[in-house]
Amino acid sequence: MHEKGSISIHTENIFPIIKKFLYSDHEIFLRELVSNAVDATQKIKRLASLGQFNGELGDTTLEIAFDEKAKTITISDKGIGMTADEIKKYINQIAFSGATEFMEKFKEANDANEIIGRFGLGFYSAFMVSEKVEIQTLSYQEGATAAKWTCDGSTEFEISDCDRTARGTDIILYINGDSEEFLSEHRIQQILDKYCKFLPVPIKFGKKTESVPDGEDKDGKPQYKSVEVDNIINNTTPLWTKTPTELSDEDYLSFYRELYPMSEDPLFWIHLNVDYPFNLTGILYFPKVKQDMELQRNKIQLYSRQVFITDEVKDIVPEFLMLLHGVIDSPDIPLNVSRSFLQADSNVKKINTYITKKVADKLNELFKSDRTSFENKWNDIGLFVKYGMISDEKFYDKAKDFCLLKNVEDKHFTLEEYREKVKDIQTDKNGTTVYIYTIDAAKQDTYIQAAQKKMYDVLKMDGPLDTHFISQLEQKGEKLSLKRVDADVLNKLIEKDESQHLVLSDDEKSKVIDVFTKAVNKSNMHVEVEAHSTEDMPVTVTQDEFMRRMKDMSKMGGQFSFYGMMPENYKLSVNGNHKLISRILETTDEIQQQALAKHAIDLALLSQGMLTGADLTAFVNRSVSLV
Ligand code: ADP
Repeated sequence: MHEKGSISIHTENIFPIIKKFLYSDHEIFLRELVSNAVDATQKIKRLASLGQFNGELGDTTLEIAFDEKAKTITISDKGIGMTADEIKKYINQIAFSGATEFMEKFKEANDANEIIGRFGLGFYSAFMVSEKVEIQTLSYQEGATAAKWTCDGSTEFEISDCDRTARGTDIILYINGDSEEFLSEHRIQQILDKYCKFLPVPIKFGKKTESVPDGEDKDGKPQYKSVEVDNIINNTTPLWTKTPTELSDEDYLSFYRELYPMSEDPLFWIHLNVDYPFNLTGILYFPKVKQDMELQRNKIQLYSRQVFITDEVKDIVPEFLMLLHGVIDSPDIPLNVSRSFLQADSNVKKINTYITKKVADKLNELFKSDRTSFENKWNDIGLFVKYGMISDEKFYDKAKDFCLLKNVEDKHFTLEEYREKVKDIQTDKNGTTVYIYTIDAAKQDTYIQAAQKKMYDVLKMDGPLDTHFISQLEQKGEKLSLKRVDADVLNKLIEKDESQHLVLSDDEKSKVIDVFTKAVNKSNMHVEVEAHSTEDMPVTVTQDEFMRRMKDMSKMGGQFSFYGMMPENYKLSVNGNHKLISRILETTDEIQQQALAKHAIDLALLSQGMLTGADLTAFVNRSVSLV
């Protein structure tokens, strides 16, 4: 037999278009051809197990070889093979729904994956890198004749009989001038590592040397020799395909090291396994969170039946879990379509919901089974949990039971426990419970100690997401408000009924305001005289919770950026009942008066970490002379 014919598509120049258009993703030709070879191999195995193929199955290892001189790459399998008729049916008639539709759609397509998947062009991706492609194949069917097909990338092909005797298929690519980079062991190995590392059928590429036992020497010492052995590039049964009950912690850890060599061990992991209403398996690892979170993103790899597809899992994995590592394998994710389609896809939404639920369940289980270890990992886990609670309503509802708050004594509480702990002392006259927090325990120590003297508890809120998390807590918590420890003077932080009596007359009060306004001499510091206990500080600098929070948010951009332009405003609260204030009023020497006021102000600024530069130097000098 020898036949020539025309590939059944209506557009003559389809290959040049494909070639040009798919430029950036050329390397995926190998993934497509190896996947086809894997499929053909699995088909023959299935037929054998069903008793529909009774011949010798033999070794079904795939083989990839290249010849630098002949400029060829060959992909060989021992799968079901094809008859000449099947070639005509499966290869010649490209699975287009119509060339016109293709021409329309390809304009919107974003990458090669999209075109290849949507139009069943897997095999044709070979033409992205080849000037000629040859198929030599023998079908498993009894009495089949071997066939050879060649095509140079035009729509013309040739098909003829050939003398192949082994079942299976060789795809021989005659690499074109622009694609010679692929004729290198290193490059092929790199592509195989990326896409084929976990394919379910062994793949052989090149040789490697191995040391094997070689008898003993005269002293009985074992001897070894180097031999060349086939280099199998893939792990055919990666961990996620196995049953969780059969696996040990060490199995999970060593798989993690296989995926991310040189990485620190993960904190824990979740083995995903669903078959209804969609198919999904995988393992998600919780890493230790690094300072540079960006570097940690895009570490989840997406597979479809063990073929690597991408590590951009946006839309499939909830945004707040993007920092996790690991693998997800699902034949139900529409891999080859555009992003907008992915977002609207109902399977993807279900997968997203499922992953969120699984992660929440696992965290809950860890919390319940070993709270101490959960608390120890909270610094790392907390970031995911808080992000999840802020961005996902459903996750919030689950996580509120194991989300922890940490106070300055490094004790952890659940949300419920904490409210119970502080509600008696920290509920104000309107019935609102006030949580007091610090963003920097060392810097705000004076305020914290003062609060603790009043039996108040102070929370640490020093994580990168805590500004948002605080708002979320307030929104969700009934009659709950959070205030930074320096948001107001102590007895105003949580307003109680009992109010302090101010010993100053109105005249004295306005005199004190004048003295202190002159002494601060800053337009963004507003002086107020208030009645505090005689033991409280003479002067306290505070910053309104609301305005400060808006400014914090403005640093993150978005709708609050406007607040970033407002000056930082502070309140200078002068304690009218402190004896220093009566001393200032008694002093007739104005210089002396200013010196005392300035010193009290500087002490207040100092405890807020706001006394710097020349002001700090002046303060030190003044203190020395006073001593
Ligand atoms: P798809 O794999 O999406 O069906 P392809 O263009 O990659 O599209 O392949 C078309 C068809 O050609 C396959 O469905 C299969 O029937 C056949 N085929 C391709 N490669 C092989 C192979 N190595 N062995 C047997 N059949 C193959």
